[in-house]
Amino acid sequence: MASAVLATACTAQQDAADRQRMVEQIDAMLASAGGTGGVARLSPRVRAAMIEVPRHEFVPPEYRSAAYSNSPLPIGRGQTISQPLIVGLMTELLQLAKTDKVLEVGTGSGYQTAILSALADEVYTIEIVPELGTMARANLERLGYINVSTKIGDGYQGWPEHAPFDAIIVTAAPNHVPPPLIAQLGPGGRIVIPVGGFDQKLVVLAKHADGTATTTIVAPVRFVPLIRE
Ligand code: SAM
Repeated sequence: MASAVLATACTAQQDAADRQRMVEQIDAMLASAGGTGGVARLSPRVRAAMIEVPRHEFVPPEYRSAAYSNSPLPIGRGQTISQPLIVGLMTELLQLAKTDKVLEVGTGSGYQTAILSALADEVYTIEIVPELGTMARANLERLGYINVSTKIGDGYQGWPEHAPFDAIIVTAAPNHVPPPLIAQLGPGGRIVIPVGGFDQKLVVLAKHADGTATTTIVAPVRFVPLIRE
């Protein structure tokens, strides 16, 4: 019994050390890219969230040992958990405040959702694959992320009942920024989204107080395509 407790404590310590190493690797990659979209390193808040959230809880058991490698991993149904570097970059680009209401399109297994939960007030997340949406909800509930609402459906349509959102993140690539998401973004808000087919770009759309929007291309990326119902 005592040795089982000791082994659990050692594993938790190793996981924490692995997360620390993971954020340091992300910072090194952002720095060597010379500041992608103005992000040259993780901010203290995003760094703390990425150190806190147990990514190994969001990957299938067979990928447990690779949970803190800086790579996407399969989560089933042909989908992936995003690369930590991309999660860190997209989260930085959202510029979240603790009071924000955020929409995520593409819950996957819930990892990015958990990061958003640590940084914002309310998180709404939509997943189109029912098995993944159900798994993500179970993961998030088990780990106590109580400010998250999950839904199974087509995130292209957003979640109008909870609009306007201060920030919207999309983690699958459509070939244009969905107009319903622009409509559901509040003034001063941001959408961070990969756009394109084979040749995708990470885009930040900023909505101004007068309702007009500006888009900025940040970097080439590779995401799974946004599925339409
Ligand atoms: N946010 C996830 C994470 O933390 O790793 C990323 C998961 S994966 C890169 C993108 C997810 O978007 C997949 O689970 C996929 O099923 C989902 N997806 C694709 N099209 C969608 C749509 N129209 N609405 C909602 N989810 C969608």
